[in-house]
Amino acid sequence: MLLQAGQERNPKPEISLVIPVYNERESLPFLFERLLPVLEELGRSYEILFIDDGSVDGSLALLLAFREEHRSTVRVIEFNGNFGQHMAITAGFRCSRGRIVITMDADLQNPPEEIPNLVAAMDAGHDTVGTYRVGRRDPFFRKIASKVINGITNRITGLNLRDYGCMLRAYSGNIIALINESAESTTFIPALGRKFSVSPTEIAISHTEREHGTSKYGLFKLIRLNFDLMTGFSLIPLQVVTMLGLLVATLSLLFVAYLGVRRLVVGPEAEGVFTLMNVNFFLMGITMFCVGIVGEYIGRIYQEVRRRPRFVIRKVYDDEA
Ligand code: UDP
Ligand code: MG
Repeated sequence: MLLQAGQERNPKPEISLVIPVYNERESLPFLFERLLPVLEELGRSYEILFIDDGSVDGSLALLLAFREEHRSTVRVIEFNGNFGQHMAITAGFRCSRGRIVITMDADLQNPPEEIPNLVAAMDAGHDTVGTYRVGRRDPFFRKIASKVINGITNRITGLNLRDYGCMLRAYSGNIIALINESAESTTFIPALGRKFSVSPTEIAISHTEREHGTSKYGLFKLIRLNFDLMTGFSLIPLQVVTMLGLLVATLSLLFVAYLGVRRLVVGPEAEGVFTLMNVNFFLMGITMFCVGIVGEYIGRIYQEVRRRPRFVIRKVYDDEA
């Protein structure tokens, strides 16, 4: 009987670690140093999948050097450009083989030392384990913004994740299979995982400041990501737009009625031009906002129907390839 390629040499590991990397040259050596002892301590078979998301700072070379030292456990996927953190994770999921798949950031803001706690929660029978940051160490503006955004997002998506921004999470093989089936061109992995999960849980983890390198998310990218999240998991923004239109129309009708009566009783009025302009500008603002929301959905539909590849892998560095 023929063995399937690589089966004998490389049995499926119990744990797959998926780590997206975009220009993390400064952090990687520290990550390698802290990650391995934690995984060895766990005493389970594991693989580490790094996805190089089009880094231009030499991160790939560091990853490959690390792989040379640990050929049996480390695999590297090289992207043909920058496709974003969530696409990198998606690609990692596709290549992962573990019974438990854990995602984490490369910048050590999620301490690798928390991995055993995630694994313990998975062993307790949960199919996704999320995390939320306590004592979060980020710039003040980021903390406030993410508090507000977490609140709004939960309202809109109904997913009830405590901390959308925390990527240290574990998923069971079943959930990964379902995520792999959903080939959406913009996505938000933790939300997708939660969507499919039947017994989710969340644990508290500590959080540290980014010590090496800088955040890869500027304000604009962060806002884009949140639109992905909200439009990808809910139609409520569209419904809000409709309701808003209804409200404004009703108010205008009342106003027209009032003006009609006033004209009959008091006579025509000509003052208050600026008030009128003000009201007009406000309504124009609302209209533009609403068109924008509708546009967000249309843009995403357009992306879906074009069916371009969501990411392009240049090369996979693993023994089976
Ligand atoms: N990342 C990525 N592609 C991107 C942006 C980020 O793969 O386009 C990776 C990055 O290398 C890191 C993780 O995603 O491992 C989280 O990024 P970052 O720490 O910059 O985000 P923040 O913690 O500031 O939200
Ligand atoms: Mg970070």
